[in-house]
Amino acid sequence: MTPDFEAQLRSASLRVTRPRLAVLTALRDHKHIDTDTVIELVRAEHPTVSHQAVYDVLRALTDAGLVRRIQPAGATARYESRVADNHHHVVCRSCGAIADIDCAAGHSPCLTAPDDHGYVIDEAEVVYWGICPACATSSKPSSSGSLEGNR
Ligand SMILES: [Zn+2]
Ligand SMILES: [Zn+2]
Repeated sequence: MTPDFEAQLRSASLRVTRPRLAVLTALRDHKHIDTDTVIELVRAEHPTVSHQAVYDVLRALTDAGLVRRIQPAGATARYESRVADNHHHVVCRSCGAIADIDCAAGHSPCLTAPDDHGYVIDEAEVVYWGICPACATSSKPSSSGSLEGNR
């Protein structure tokens, strides 16, 4: 099931270019990656694409709604190509790993504000914070023999 990137670009009135296709491919294969990782992945396949070109492509794709930029507090911005479903993220406090969480209540904006102050609300930005399974496992107290020799 390969998304038709060329059709996506055209439907967003963006010209189909090699750097744009390369960035979309990188984001299809890797979720929630930061700018440096996008550059690394794109340049591994297309060494002639400049850093600046990748920055420009990320901005254009984000503005066009083909790519979503997320930036948990205190973390670097990440990009993903899963867009328009208002899903949320859980972030590991320890290593910064990010996983998707489906919309908490079925469709956006998920959370109904008790008082909208007259605003027309269309989005609720939710970030769940916690500890990922890998970090939870590695931080379990080690079973070294500190209980021995106590008497
Ligand atoms: Zn972690
Ligand atoms: Zn996501």
